[in-house]
Amino acid sequence: MITLHELTIKKIHFLLTSKEFSAFDLTKEFFDYIEKKDKEIDAYKLLLKDEALRQANEIDKKIAAGEEISLLAGVPLAIKDNILIKNTLTTAGSKILANYKAAYNATAIEKLKKQGAIFLGKTNIDEFAMGSSTETSAFRKTKNPLDLTRVPGGSSGGSAAAIASHQSVAALGSDTGGSVRQPASFCGLVGLKPTYGAVSRFGLIALASSLDQIGPLAKTVEDAAILLEAIVGKDKYDNSSENFQFQANSIYNKDDLKGLKIGIIKEINLNSLEKDLAIAFQKNLKQLENLGASIEEISIPHLSLSLACYYVLMPAEASSNLARFDGLRYSPSDKTGSLKDIYFETRGEYFGSEVKRRIVLGTFVLSSGYYDAFYHKARLVQTLIKKEFEEVFKKVDLIVLPTTPTTAFKFNEKINDPLEMYLSDIFTVPANIAGLPAISLPIYGENKLPYGFQFLANHFQEATMLNAAYLLEQSTHERRSL
Ligand code: GLN
Repeated sequence: MITLHELTIKKIHFLLTSKEFSAFDLTKEFFDYIEKKDKEIDAYKLLLKDEALRQANEIDKKIAAGEEISLLAGVPLAIKDNILIKNTLTTAGSKILANYKAAYNATAIEKLKKQGAIFLGKTNIDEFAMGSSTETSAFRKTKNPLDLTRVPGGSSGGSAAAIASHQSVAALGSDTGGSVRQPASFCGLVGLKPTYGAVSRFGLIALASSLDQIGPLAKTVEDAAILLEAIVGKDKYDNSSENFQFQANSIYNKDDLKGLKIGIIKEINLNSLEKDLAIAFQKNLKQLENLGASIEEISIPHLSLSLACYYVLMPAEASSNLARFDGLRYSPSDKTGSLKDIYFETRGEYFGSEVKRRIVLGTFVLSSGYYDAFYHKARLVQTLIKKEFEEVFKKVDLIVLPTTPTTAFKFNEKINDPLEMYLSDIFTVPANIAGLPAISLPIYGENKLPYGFQFLANHFQEATMLNAAYLLEQSTHERRSL
């Protein structure tokens, strides 16, 4: 009997190698469950059943032959639908890519495949990863498994909902302004955005190339660490990738936080947070102190400009990245007439309104006459914010802040008010603007829905960050399962 909700990566490894069940049985069990459960959740855009069962058989053969298998061998994962898996439909949540089959594997996929991970399917996302609720997906509305009247967060909402409803053990998402951490927070999971450059972006459909990172969503810090170890590293196909190694075992480096300095940001007034979040946040701060950390107040004077800065830089990059969807390549090519007609009609019909809004905004801030006033100024502000973080990391090892200002909101609550929607990214965007690693852990106040507790670290200090996150997780046992 396989109990899906109890599974973690190490547990699966143990059960597979001690022959409690086969990889085939496990994979089959997941698909049987998904077939029932996903009618209610709509986490998956596409299931990859045949290929997954074939992969599982391969793993079973290795086990039967007595070969040593890696930790991720036979582990079922869900993959956000903007990450390419060869010969597989990859839509990025957009009608413009409704029929697009990936011609190659993303580097992160290639690496996971080499370790024997199994891909259950592609998960629903906000169109081109633009959104915080997965409501901008052209295809379906993914529900939050903790409360079906609420959004799962976004843009990696399908990945988060799949794990939270036990339709996957862990998943990959992408995080440009919070899209791994915010849905993790809304669904009671761990979400990790690696340092910019830690993970290759090759094969990730670009939103804003200077901010995008692929990152894991999981039930535990340990699982997130195992996935991070598997996907980091220099890649000749992505010039921004760095020669960074991460050992998942570093989460056990220390068993207390003595000597660790943790900063809380003065500019975020804890008293102004909603009451239940303040309770949850303070409780966990206290716990960090109990573990031996010292908490000090630090200042990032221009933090409040991060969101405005993000909503200039991101659309600017998005508008140029999305120029490639011209109705001739990738897209449904059902339009005729002059080249201009084809462009207009394809992009007019197949892009959703949030995507169009950002293309218009991005084109505007890059246009001559406005470039200096908007794009260039935002870059200057970005440099300022980066420097302020640099200074702060001379004094403290980690910074903590909430992941989101609220718990998961209801469907239609923000979708018609873009500014309100953008404000939900207020605590996640700074890490992207400064290229820093960040992790969100589930925390609870008095209500039943989770918030997120976020750690930020200096560039490539994932080991310190995950060690602290692991200790906090283990000492509070805040994770709740459905
Ligand atoms: N919610 C943010 C946005 O809409 C973040 C998106 C992301 O990280 N992909 O831009």
